[in-house]
Amino acid sequence: MDFAFTPDQLALRDAVSRICARYPDEYWLERDREGGFPEPLHADLARDGWLGIAMPPEHGGAGLGMTEAALMMQTIAASGAGFTGASAVHMNIFGLNPVVVFGNDEQRARWLPPLIAGRQKACFAVTEPDAGLDTTKLGTRAVRQGDEYVVHGRKIWISTAQVADKMLLLARTTPLSEVAKPTQGLSLFYTDLDRGKVEVREIEKMGRKAVDSNMLFIDGLRIPLADRIGEEGRGFEYILHGLNPERILIAAEAVGIGRAALERAVRYAGERHVFGRPIGQNQGIQHPLAQAWMQLEAADLMVFKAASLYDAGEPCGPSANAAKYLAAEAGYNACQTAVMTLGGMGYAKEYHVERLLRESFIPRIAPVSPQLIMCFIAEKVLGLPKSY
Ligand SMILES: Cc1cc2nc3c(=O)[nH]c(=O)nc-3n(C[C@H](O)[C@H](O)[C@H](O)COP(=O)(O)OP(=O)(O)OC[C@H]3O[C@@H](n4cnc5c(N)ncnc54)[C@H](O)[C@@H]3O)c2cc1C
Repeated sequence: MDFAFTPDQLALRDAVSRICARYPDEYWLERDREGGFPEPLHADLARDGWLGIAMPPEHGGAGLGMTEAALMMQTIAASGAGFTGASAVHMNIFGLNPVVVFGNDEQRARWLPPLIAGRQKACFAVTEPDAGLDTTKLGTRAVRQGDEYVVHGRKIWISTAQVADKMLLLARTTPLSEVAKPTQGLSLFYTDLDRGKVEVREIEKMGRKAVDSNMLFIDGLRIPLADRIGEEGRGFEYILHGLNPERILIAAEAVGIGRAALERAVRYAGERHVFGRPIGQNQGIQHPLAQAWMQLEAADLMVFKAASLYDAGEPCGPSANAAKYLAAEAGYNACQTAVMTLGGMGYAKEYHVERLLRESFIPRIAPVSPQLIMCFIAEKVLGLPKSY
């Protein structure tokens, strides 16, 4: 058991930190006020090859593991970029895992290099308004017509669809009534986001203004057969394969945003004098901050345990789910503690912690809720009956 990062991993963290240092809090505050995708950060990370950190070397990636990818994403969030910075590149890092694992050589060669080079952006279109977390009930239909599929349906919350060129899309190819199990009959596609056939309508939301989330209205989108990943009807299985990496990355980012808030709160607690001494000299201020630090550290251990298991090819479902739950709650608690530590100034945008608090809800809600994680642990780890 070794809890230390290797020199290479530490060098990676320093290199990503140096890029993030070009984007101070004021940059993120401006993005939060005005929106506008953080293209310069995306371009900087692409230029230095970071977008392909976990992609296969034969297609221009660095071929590193989940541990390195999690460290990179955590560093971005912890820099103060929070979920705006992390979400701007998140999809690049492991979103195309189904293509890497289940795509064919031609597809990998066609799709991965432009994404790694930052020439294309992708979005991940799974969630639907009428299905929610019950993914097998999704109603978007892809009907085969010769060498293509024709798609009709609606998606919700699809992040980066305003700027994306491509879309990873899960749709039903065989009606629910005709399959033996609800998980069958769904297919996965990676295809052009054809705005002539897909209306992308932005959802006004609580935080992360610069990285959009959207309703998609898909009306007659034509997808060539060559854009289907793997076999027809096995899309749910392919998506499941990517769920653990997704949870680990989100968890790493959640620890990162919590650390960003904690750092700003501790600095303020040391500088702000009331009743003739720094507010940070009072245990009422110290203890919640100390508790937030401990919670973040504990969650972080679970994040990197899950990442190590994944990299070793071991089952990591319980750890990945536990990491996502613990990190999201710890990140949120650190952010709300930071706001309360700053008192009135915690509520002022210029001190940045209220922005981090608003963004810290994202890893709690997405890609899966705390309730559904507890259902998973109760059923798969504790052996209790399935409750949903
Ligand atoms: C900022 C943001 C970005 C997102 N980006 C993307 C994206 O890029 N692509 C994408 O596909 N999706 C995206 N999502 C969607 C996200 O993954 C979903 O919002 C999330 O999975 C929850 O689904 P839902 O909102 O439909 O909740 P619902 O399924 O409607 O559930 C609502 C609440 O009820 C609870 N609940 C439901 N059933 C049960 C049960 N049986 N037991 C206990 N509790 C239950 C849930 O836990 C939840 O708290 C994003 C969401 C947000 C907020």
